[in-house]
Amino acid sequence: MNISRIQNKTPRLSRRHFLYLAGIGSLSLATGCATHPVTGQRQFMLMSESQEIELDKENSPHQISADYGVVQDKNLQDYVSGVGRDMASRSHRPDMPYSFNTLNATYINAYAFPGGTIGVSRGILLELQDEAELASLIGHELGHVNARHTAQRMTRGMLAQVVFTGAAAAAGPQWENVVAGLGGIGTGALLASYSRNQEREADELGLEYMARADYNPEGFVGLMEMLKDMSGEDRGSLEMLFSTHPMSSERYQTAVNRVRTDYQKNSKPLYRERYMDNTARLRQIKQAVQDMQEGDDLMRAKKPGEAGEKYSSALQAAPEDYVANLKMSKYLLSRDNNSQARKYASEAREIYPEEPQAMHILGMAWLRQEKFEQSLAEFSRYQERLPGNPNTLFFQGYSYEGMGRRNQAAEKYYAFLQQVNQGDKAQHAYNRLKEWGYI
Ligand SMILES: [Zn+2]
Repeated sequence: MNISRIQNKTPRLSRRHFLYLAGIGSLSLATGCATHPVTGQRQFMLMSESQEIELDKENSPHQISADYGVVQDKNLQDYVSGVGRDMASRSHRPDMPYSFNTLNATYINAYAFPGGTIGVSRGILLELQDEAELASLIGHELGHVNARHTAQRMTRGMLAQVVFTGAAAAAGPQWENVVAGLGGIGTGALLASYSRNQEREADELGLEYMARADYNPEGFVGLMEMLKDMSGEDRGSLEMLFSTHPMSSERYQTAVNRVRTDYQKNSKPLYRERYMDNTARLRQIKQAVQDMQEGDDLMRAKKPGEAGEKYSSALQAAPEDYVANLKMSKYLLSRDNNSQARKYASEAREIYPEEPQAMHILGMAWLRQEKFEQSLAEFSRYQERLPGNPNTLFFQGYSYEGMGRRNQAAEKYYAFLQQVNQGDKAQHAYNRLKEWGYI
């Protein structure tokens, strides 16, 4: 079997996730009517608060690792987290287990899981102008959590559909997750596509929370202007942001009108200087972040030669950057330059030993070189650090198979098939189990 052929197939929704969604109807026994935390009205809701938290806990660590973990710049992480916590305490659900994560990822995005895990990428932090804009962005994400938008979508059965198309859509532009065998974890789907009404509600709440936290509401207008301007651009780094949070001129106008009518002549601060101070170290490598974004765009446009140059110059500007090293490694994997890929993945692991993605990439590079003992060691380390990704089971099985250890391989393949029953990996696992007489 050709391992790169298997990896490059579109990942499918895992069976466990599908069963969870398909079985959502049975949850109605446990829940039913709930009071909307914002409006106070009764609404039909199939998901309880503890289920929202559970779903978050199960999925958000995978998304955060796919986004290269939380930044190692502790000052920046504490700063963003402080802004978030202050607003969360003034929100409609102050007791949710919030966490505010400044993500290493270079694309321009922010998201919220239903239990209160919120992510803000380095890419979007570089676009913001002041703390009031940051508060507006986080406020909007808090709005999605407070109005229970994920639970609403699941209740209305909208998410099952979104999950199927969403998982496939994510695999297209996210070439790197596919080449790394990380695709198909399906968490992106949880975040996919809020409705226009939900976006409007999240905007309203975001504005309310940032104003409660004593920021100048003009910051909200600043954020909306930035989003409106960017929504016209064709950049891969913006794709996720706008496919999850749809932008429109109507959304922009609604928000601006609200600021103008409800918050006239507000002289509160925007905290531009404080924002600039706290993001100074990040802005020092702005060029490297842009190079990585452009490299990703070029990969998307199938111009790998030029992409490679961009990743090189990113590395030159920021040799100690975890993402720059890992992106280079994944780029080299896509070019079948596996020994060099290994070098950069090892470097990345040394830079950020707690973040598991590098282990997975390193495992993949060893696997491509048919060094199965080494690949198994890396996948097992990854599995220990971040359990729950079915792909790891497959690659552990594949490593065992390469080592000629059938029993162990069969065990892993079987466990993989418990969770995934479609796609080339599942086909391979099934064929082996049959061939070896296990089924
Ligand atoms: Zn949104």
